[in-house]
Amino acid sequence: MSKDKENSSSDIKQMSTLLLSGATMLADSCPDCKVPLFKKSEKIFCPKCGRKAVYVSSDDEAKQIEHAHSFSETREMVQDILTGKLNFMAQKLADCEKIEEMKNILQIIDMLIEISIKIASIQRNSWNKK
Ligand SMILES: [Zn+2]
Repeated sequence: MSKDKENSSSDIKQMSTLLLSGATMLADSCPDCKVPLFKKSEKIFCPKCGRKAVYVSSDDEAKQIEHAHSFSETREMVQDILTGKLNFMAQKLADCEKIEEMKNILQIIDMLIEISIKIASIQRNSWNKK
């Protein structure tokens, strides 16, 4: 319970900062955080989770958006993992002194970059569909 209180007081602080910056508070609230949505320069967003809010006219549309959202979260997670592995492989390459091993490492790095680019291009495609 005390944790909830802590959270809500920092939420209020954040919301007042938003209001001072010229954002307006809306009557609708974030379905996840239950905090009021804010509007600033035509963008509607949740001050707590930072998600952009989109008004939908049907359940189907809501499902589509939800799907796109969970996809973007997955993509970010995969990109994080890939970046971590790339750093790991780059370190391995730096430490490596055998040509044959270097070749293997470089192949893996190449694959990681390729996958990373692929994922980034999926992101662009889904934006274009909007
Ligand atoms: Zn939220």
